[in-house]
Amino acid sequence: MRGACLCGAVTVEVRGDHAAQAADLSACHCDPCRRWAGAVLWGFEAARGDVDVTGEVASYASSEFAERVWCPACGTQLWFADLDGPYELNPGLFEETRDWPLARVVYADRAAAHAEIAGDHARRTKAEYEATERHAP
Ligand SMILES: [Zn+2]
Ligand SMILES: [Zn+2]
Repeated sequence: MRGACLCGAVTVEVRGDHAAQAADLSACHCDPCRRWAGAVLWGFEAARGDVDVTGEVASYASSEFAERVWCPACGTQLWFADLDGPYELNPGLFEETRDWPLARVVYADRAAAHAEIAGDHARRTKAEYEATERHAP
């Protein structure tokens, strides 16, 4: 599937198993995601080898091991990623993801009152997530 930022200067093509990518669609309420995205950051995982990006991008190292990337012309969020890990792509770039349900919420106990997400998806608290995953201090 192929997606683009608002202005079209950046395109992102994703190959691989789209069913598996769909099954991973997550929402994050951690403090950096809340600040970057307004309330919650949506993402789905895709291996670096399955993603081709064209166009100039800008990035910010939001921790020692992760970066946040956007289009410098229009500001559209493109992805969040550990530097040595897969992309967590913005599902809003791709028309196909409209049909993808939410699989899980992380930092669920950190959700802002206006951003609680109802539904039958997995939820992990800050403590649960940080017990097993690398995270920003
Ligand atoms: Zn753009
Ligand atoms: Zn986050």
